[in-house]
Amino acid sequence: MKILSVNAGSSSLKFQLFEMPEEKVIASGLIERIGLPASIITVTTNGDKRRTVEDIQDHAKAVQKVLSVLLDLSIVASLDEIKGVGHRVVHGGEKFSDSVLITDEVITEIDKLSELAPLHNPANLIGIKAFQKVLPNVKQIAVFDTAFHQTMPIESYLYPAPYSWYVKYGVRRYGFHGMSHKYVSERAYKLLGKGPEGTRLITIHLGNGASVTAIRDGKSVETSMGFTPLVGLMMGTRSGDVDPSILPFVMQKENCSFEDTLNALNYESGLKGISLASSDMRDILKGVNEGNKQCILAFNLYIKRVCDYIGQYYILLGGCDALVFTAGIGENSGQTRKAIIDRLAALEIKLDEEANKVMGKESIVTKPDSKIKVLVIPTNEELVIARDTLRLIS
Ligand code: ADP
Repeated sequence: MKILSVNAGSSSLKFQLFEMPEEKVIASGLIERIGLPASIITVTTNGDKRRTVEDIQDHAKAVQKVLSVLLDLSIVASLDEIKGVGHRVVHGGEKFSDSVLITDEVITEIDKLSELAPLHNPANLIGIKAFQKVLPNVKQIAVFDTAFHQTMPIESYLYPAPYSWYVKYGVRRYGFHGMSHKYVSERAYKLLGKGPEGTRLITIHLGNGASVTAIRDGKSVETSMGFTPLVGLMMGTRSGDVDPSILPFVMQKENCSFEDTLNALNYESGLKGISLASSDMRDILKGVNEGNKQCILAFNLYIKRVCDYIGQYYILLGGCDALVFTAGIGENSGQTRKAIIDRLAALEIKLDEEANKVMGKESIVTKPDSKIKVLVIPTNEELVIARDTLRLIS
């Protein structure tokens, strides 16, 4: 049966069409610049990538475009072949600890949660509504970025701020990248030949956004992102943890608004802010290898922050069976992984330097006698969406 996995952003729509339960990708695509002149439509099927440019005014038009492309390219003979549509929804708050079948009530809840994720939930909802309109008889499922972390104990999610902020407004740590941490942890149990029970994992998602999660018995017990995805690790353009008192101080010094200052922490910080060059780890590594001082500083700061969290979670879990690296940097950069392992000397991890050269392929990169294993596992959030969709429509 065919299942469509959808990720709707404010000006983009990403999709993958799966044959399930075989988990085979039949087609994937991306529509960018929705609502702007010259939207870009990219569709890949059977290794053949097509790119066209036309004006797509809104998400409803983008959805129609996706479905007409699937028909035009004979990827499906009829839209009736699509039995379920799964949507990535960023914020599920405390309400959703698992994926759900989308009903009017669920839509109302996702809408209410928009105040916690104003950049994401409204865009996700536009995607849901657009698909409901075009495929009214097809079941739609919401899969949340926060759901996997709903197992965190209260000591992990509550901020030591006035308790009334939590009670009245839901101010707490939620955590994100849940689908990715869940997916790589499940693959890790397979690679390790162990079940989740009694296994302690630290999953390290290093993409443009980045987060670390401590997982015990298959459950997230703590994660580095918080009330928003701004905190925790240093990221491509996000600062990660900083003292909030910096905000009013810089606002006054630079005579700029709260919004501009917060934007600087979201979009002008992290690797970009410190390297003064780029948010892209490939550029940073090139700079490091050429001896560029700012790039070396950015890289060292980045590595330290990752290690700080791993150390903290090692203690929290009372030890660790495996570190799992994923996402663009974690999957592809042996240099970054090695720098992290080198800095974690106290854990006595025995890295296999040859195996650690791997890029984008599932593997164990430690020597057989290393007590703590290090795994590289490419993430697959689209597949998590397709699996949950299959589970909930069946
Ligand atoms: P997103 O969070 O946008 O999904 P990705 O998971 O694609 O991001 O990760 C993007 C990051 O991965 C960028 O910093 C990019 O430089 C980095 N990256 C991709 N390939 C490599 C590589 N071969 N070596 C080092 N970094 C890489």
